[in-house]
Amino acid sequence: MTSALRFEIQATCPTTGARAGLLHTAHGGIETPVFMPVGTQGTVKGLTPRMLTDELDARIILGNTYHLFLRPGHERIERFGGLHEFISWPRAILTDSGGFQIFSLDSLRKVTDEGVLFRSHLNGDPHFFSPQSTVDVQLAFGSDIMMVLDECLPYPVEYPAALESMHRTINWARLGYLHYLQREKGLHCALFPIVQGSMFPDLRRACAEALLELDAPGYAIGGLSVGEPRDLSHEMAAITAPLLPKEKPRYVMGVGMPDELPRYVAQGVDMMDCVLPTRNARNGYLFTSTGKVAIKQAQYADDHGPLDPACDCYTCRTFSRAYLRHLFMAEEILFSTLATLHNVRFYLETMRRIRRAILLGTFPEFLRAAESQSVA
Ligand SMILES: [Zn+2]
Repeated sequence: MTSALRFEIQATCPTTGARAGLLHTAHGGIETPVFMPVGTQGTVKGLTPRMLTDELDARIILGNTYHLFLRPGHERIERFGGLHEFISWPRAILTDSGGFQIFSLDSLRKVTDEGVLFRSHLNGDPHFFSPQSTVDVQLAFGSDIMMVLDECLPYPVEYPAALESMHRTINWARLGYLHYLQREKGLHCALFPIVQGSMFPDLRRACAEALLELDAPGYAIGGLSVGEPRDLSHEMAAITAPLLPKEKPRYVMGVGMPDELPRYVAQGVDMMDCVLPTRNARNGYLFTSTGKVAIKQAQYADDHGPLDPACDCYTCRTFSRAYLRHLFMAEEILFSTLATLHNVRFYLETMRRIRRAILLGTFPEFLRAAESQSVA
């Protein structure tokens, strides 16, 4: 079977197993490892698509199935020719299955083997997501990469509950995949299964092994960043990633801090996403080469310097810290745009430096330097 999604590995670090590659999609190529900015409602908050392409060269963004399903609705999006057309985004889109939102938002829900019944956080209306219907919704979007419906557990959870949930996730993945193969004849939209298993290594292994039978074009590791200590998230990713096929992309969902990116890449992870750069930007927390900047601090009121002297984004090339602080204090809309532009640039540039290091064979040194910085 041929999928529109093709993954080409260009270099592998012999010491760590980190990979640099190219992920070919129907909407262009993506250099990996890649960080994917989150565009929950069909927009990366604060940025225009042109900023994402021209200024940041983002090759892929995320959309959230739960939110777009409730508003404006997948059928409406389909009538507009799909999500790319609707939001005027010419490059690749990955959508989640909605599972994470249903399980993290406090929406009233009932989980059965057939799917999950939940209430809209907008108006309380009841809705039902099945493994099949979430595939249908994402096919209506025309997402380049779609995710299967999975059950995302909170942390901590008892072993028996995690075991039962893992079996449900495997079963849902099988049902979703079968439905996908019946519906998507052209295979323009790839479907990734998600490895769950909470923080139990044996469940992670069992789940990965079962999902490999689907022979999907890529695999995700889910259920991390749900409140567990960071070292435990890394441990679970480190256990799971090597079980997934070497020749296929591996995606860790919902991570992480900038200093964590090289650690995940060192485990053989190719794709990541997180709301941190965009959400923190809007809240006035900026990631820079010299550490985190809380722009509201009085020390920046007369600071003529750029936000990050090492960054060449529009924000850093053009504006002073003092002006950015003024915009933040005055609650001006422009602040969100300038801050988000910089934070996303910081993440994308971190990944590009990681990628260059892998290609040049200097990734172990890069990793050591990053780890000593994050300890300091
Ligand atoms: Zn910048």
